[in-house]
Amino acid sequence: MLVRGVVFYLDSDLPTEAKFLLEDFRSAVNNAIRAGLQARVTSRNALCKIAYKDFREQHPRMYSQHLVSAFEVAGSILKNHRRRVRKGITGRIPFVKRLMMKAENQAYKLDRKSGVIDLPIRAGCHVELKLAVSRYHREYLDDMTLSLGSLTVLPDRVIVAFRKEAPDQYTPASVLSLDTNERSLDGVFVEGEVANAVKAEFPEIAIVQQRHHDRRRRLQKKKAHDRRTSRNLCKREGAREHRRIDYRLHQVANSVLRFAEDRKSAIVLEDLKGMKARLGKELNRRLSLWPRRKLHQIIEYKAQWKGIPVVKVDPRNSSRTCPICGRIQYSRMGAEFKCVCGWHMDRHINASINLLQTAISKGMAGGLWFNPGAFQHDVMMILYEPAMAARSEPNGTSGIAGVT
Ligand SMILES: [Zn+2]
Repeated sequence: MLVRGVVFYLDSDLPTEAKFLLEDFRSAVNNAIRAGLQARVTSRNALCKIAYKDFREQHPRMYSQHLVSAFEVAGSILKNHRRRVRKGITGRIPFVKRLMMKAENQAYKLDRKSGVIDLPIRAGCHVELKLAVSRYHREYLDDMTLSLGSLTVLPDRVIVAFRKEAPDQYTPASVLSLDTNERSLDGVFVEGEVANAVKAEFPEIAIVQQRHHDRRRRLQKKKAHDRRTSRNLCKREGAREHRRIDYRLHQVANSVLRFAEDRKSAIVLEDLKGMKARLGKELNRRLSLWPRRKLHQIIEYKAQWKGIPVVKVDPRNSSRTCPICGRIQYSRMGAEFKCVCGWHMDRHINASINLLQTAISKGMAGGLWFNPGAFQHDVMMILYEPAMAARSEPNGTSGIAGVT
């Protein structure tokens, strides 16, 4: 089962009763966290067993399904906490700061035509939340193959989980092989006898990262005498950075997937799992790796939702191998890969050709094959470039792949 959370803003202010419910829910979650820590349990059922009775008395007005849902939220927070403690990351007791509540799908009603949520507060008291519905939201609301999952309510917006069975993947008619770099995806698109270079550029991601990294450094220096303020400021800085980069990564992923879906392509990516930070440059490497991993995550997840086949291959030596004669070069090279056999190609695109050949040799590209001789050196297909972000909407309906 695939789940996708869709954010809806509210058409009007949250009703007062709902605000009280959020506060009650938050305090219930925080109490459950404390009870769970004391009793050393993390599952929803165990929390229910030890705390339900007390909670019923403390929150007499709360709808019992919401109370159970508070245990669920507390349970998942406790599980994360336990994992972090085990890794030695933090010993701090977790605490939910922002106002929120979560309702399972039996605990609310959404009229998919009118976009109105009926949320029970307690016996005999329901509130209506009117959602702001755009064309993007309509795609989810009107698609009856999607069922409704949980509802998360925040002071100014709600997140509705839509669920569906993973669709069957189509049989690829072409392949899009992509090498993932700090500032771009570079690759080759093969359809029939023809192979073209493709590119999706996102130079701003590295720039945003660098800027936030510098700012964090400066904050740490300036607030060296006050570690608590420093930590809080850095955390906020980090959250902003993630949001800004996330937004751009989604844009890039949408463009790539639209291109692949239109041409019924399989997507080949390198498996970044084995990649480790190199000693010496560790900090830099760590900084630049997470957006790439995140981009892969987004592409894979969205591809699954649409039934686009994605193949991950071992990238070992992909940047050093000649796809024509198979020689491996151990010396450092510049922007272009050159081989003694006469083959030369942009370094990144060369890597993507090797990824493609690995996928083909393992039979993972749906019986398609690739002839490097068919490569059209003078054509570059642009899947994405920063200029597209300027006029694109958050719902990602713009940014059409063009040919230059
Ligand atoms: Zn060669």
